[in-house]
Formats: sequence, structure tokens, C-alpha cells
Amino acid sequence: MKNLKLVAARPDCQRSVINVQGVEVGKDLVVIAGPCSVETERQTIETAIAVKRAGANMLRGGAFKPRTSPYAFQGLGLKGLKILDKAKKESGLPIVTEVVDTRDVSWVGEYADVLQIGARNMQNFSLLREVGKSGKPILLKRGMYSTLEEWLNCAEYILAEGNPNVILCERGIRTFETYTRNTLDLSMVPAVHHESHLPIIIDPSHGTGIREMIEPMSLAALMAGADGLEIEVHIDPPNALSDKEQQLTVAQFEDLMVKLRKARAFIQSLGSDDAPIASEPEDRDARAGKGKTARAGEEPHPFSDAVD
Ligand code: PEP
Ligand code: MN
Repeated sequence: MKNLKLVAARPDCQRSVINVQGVEVGKDLVVIAGPCSVETERQTIETAIAVKRAGANMLRGGAFKPRTSPYAFQGLGLKGLKILDKAKKESGLPIVTEVVDTRDVSWVGEYADVLQIGARNMQNFSLLREVGKSGKPILLKRGMYSTLEEWLNCAEYILAEGNPNVILCERGIRTFETYTRNTLDLSMVPAVHHESHLPIIIDPSHGTGIREMIEPMSLAALMAGADGLEIEVHIDPPNALSDKEQQLTVAQFEDLMVKLRKARAFIQSLGSDDAPIASEPEDRDARAGKGKTARAGEEPHPFSDAVD
């Protein structure tokens, strides 16, 4: 691809790892979970503690919501960011939250560990430049009408400002298909890995808009080689103020995390050339890393204890 100076795959094929408060995106599967919108303190903190217990690595939640209708819930703004800050203190999870306006980047950045650029703002070049200057980790969602080349050029805007900390997020595109909210383009996982050194995560919540499809598409994303997932979880989805059809319950998220651990152990087993087709249980444990101890002072990765 032309004009990609900083984002293009490196000649030595080295991939970037983005460090978010000790969570390394691009190294091992990272799960970002939480509500579509921050609604109340109780809703956000309960969700944060629940997703952390289930094994999530970061908390998501929108305080600024880019909504189709100007009359729909627009988010709590500063109040929402303060709630996220409390949820971070209670759960220990780093915060991922969207910024929609160049004027807000510096103060939203005081609460966010990762600034999310939403699909509708992917090509807002002044916003890209501003988050580039912030130096913070950026989650750059794919625009719903954008090609891979356009998307990677948007990442280039951020890197060109001296910020190498970009995580790409595929969240579905508009096609003629209307059964799903968007068409989740999982082919972007190998495509991004081929064209760029940046990590790519998948958002099956906005990608499908259908709660029941989140689990199969999450597992498919993992099999495709995604570096992580961003998943909407709510303590009471039917009463959510936004995206009620696509938020998982806590119980559904817990089930999904168990399956993701199993899928990850399976994928790791594929990496071993000499893996026997039918192995003894102790061989399986050894390959899945059971019994390994974490380095001193390091928390074990939530996926490190293999099959439940
Ligand atoms: C979101 O993740 O909160 C969101 C609004 O997603 P998108 O920008 O992908 O529509
Ligand atoms: Mn949403």
C-alpha cells in the first residue's frame, strides 16, 4: 500500500505490542469488556467488578456517545468519566473510553488509559492529529464505509504525530446485508497482520448487533488470529440506555470467557508441529502451560491457566 511509512509491516515482520498499564496488546489475547454507555455508578462498578472476575483485561464504557439521533442518550460526559475513574479504582482495570471532539482530548485523557476513536470519527483528521499529540494508547475503530487502505492511513495520521500506540479495531462495515447490524469483516485480521505491524482486535457487539452472535463471532475472531476483543456487557441489558440488543449479560460473558480460554489453548496446540493428534492429558496440560508459574511480581495472564 502506498504512503504507509510508519504503519506498514516491517521488513523483519516484528509486530508492535502496545502497553496499557501493563496489559500488552499484541502479545496475548486481550479482552476489553463493559457497558456500551456509562449510565450510573452502580451499573458501571458492578459491571467492572464482574468482568474483571471473569478475566477481562480492560474496562470499556462510553461517556460521550456518538448517536444517530440528537435526541438519543448522549452520555454523561465528565460525570461518566468520574464514574469510570471509580470503577478503575474498584476493579483495577484500565479504562477504554471514546473521545469525540478535539477540544476534549487532553482532559478526557486524564481519565482514559486508552482513547477510543469511534467508527464515525475514523476520518476526522483533526481529531486523529490531536490524539496523536496526546501520546496515549489509541483504539482506532474502522469506519463503517472505509477500506483497509483508508483505515491504515488514519492510523498513519496518529503515528505521524509521534504516537506509536495504536490498536486497530474491526467493528463491521455496511453492506447490502441488513440481517446483522453490520457485516463483521474478520478477513481484516489476517489482512492487517499482513499489511501492518499494529495489533487488531474485533468488536463483535457492534459487528453483529445481535447478542446471540457475539459468542460464535468472538471464537471465530480468535481462530482468525485477532489480538483481542471488545465486548459490550451490561448488568441488565433490556434496560440499557443504548445498544440493548447487543450487550451480553454477566453470565453470558462468564461463559464466553471460559470458551475463549479453551479456544486459546486449542490454538496454542496447533502451533506445536510435533503435537500428537490424540494426546495424553498430561501432555495437553504441559502444552497449554499448566503448572507454569508467573515471574516474580507478575500477575498471571487471565488466560494462562488454560482449559477450565
Ligand atoms: C462504541 O464502541 O461505543 C461505539 C460507538 O462503536 P462504533 O464507533 O464502532 O460504532
Ligand atoms: Mn454500543
